[in-house]
Amino acid sequence: MRLLLVEDEPDLAEVVRRGLEEEGYAVDISLDGEDGAWRATTMDYDIAVLDIMLPGVNGLEILRRMREAGRHAPVLLLTARDTVADRVLGLDLGADDYLVKPFAFSELTARLRALLRRGAKGSGGTLRHNDLEMDPARHVVTRAGRHVDLTAKEFQFLEVLIREPERVHTRTELIERVYDDEFDAMSNIVDVFVSRLRRKLNRCAGVKLLATVRGVGYRLAGGDHA
Ligand code: CA
Repeated sequence: MRLLLVEDEPDLAEVVRRGLEEEGYAVDISLDGEDGAWRATTMDYDIAVLDIMLPGVNGLEILRRMREAGRHAPVLLLTARDTVADRVLGLDLGADDYLVKPFAFSELTARLRALLRRGAKGSGGTLRHNDLEMDPARHVVTRAGRHVDLTAKEFQFLEVLIREPERVHTRTELIERVYDDEFDAMSNIVDVFVSRLRRKLNRCAGVKLLATVRGVGYRLAGGDHA
């Protein structure tokens, strides 16, 4: 999951980034409103966390521009003051949730999971493909009922694939979904992840689930489309 964090307190931004990266998010930080607005309107994020009080363009304005630009990723607003006026304005502008500072990190991650779950395709939140099942909210993957132990990044890779199993995902696209923009896109990290995922998923008997589409990228195999 690729996440945009717009927060002008560098220490807080860094702490939140580190925590979220441990949870498997790819995090881009903007320390001011101008940069944040630019990112939010031109780049493709799965979710955004916007501080309201920012120098230059404030979080509410970023949200307004984001929606105007047709970007519908869920937005969580951070506010220092829990005022009804801010809350109402934010919701009117299309915010999905609010968190009042200071907040516990565990509360932030719980809210983010809830927002991503709400936006997830299909009902109940569980994603299925052949005998593979993924519960993004609980971070659990099973194959034929048996638990598959994945790292946070492996989980993210698989989630991108399983959400659109019929599509071929290019290496560049997979990197963009899973890493922040400081990542060296020339690396062969995708192939490394795919081979690790293959090993873990294919431990149980059954169809080989990860197909390489030569010269293009990867998709899930073994679905109705195959
Ligand atoms: Ca602030």
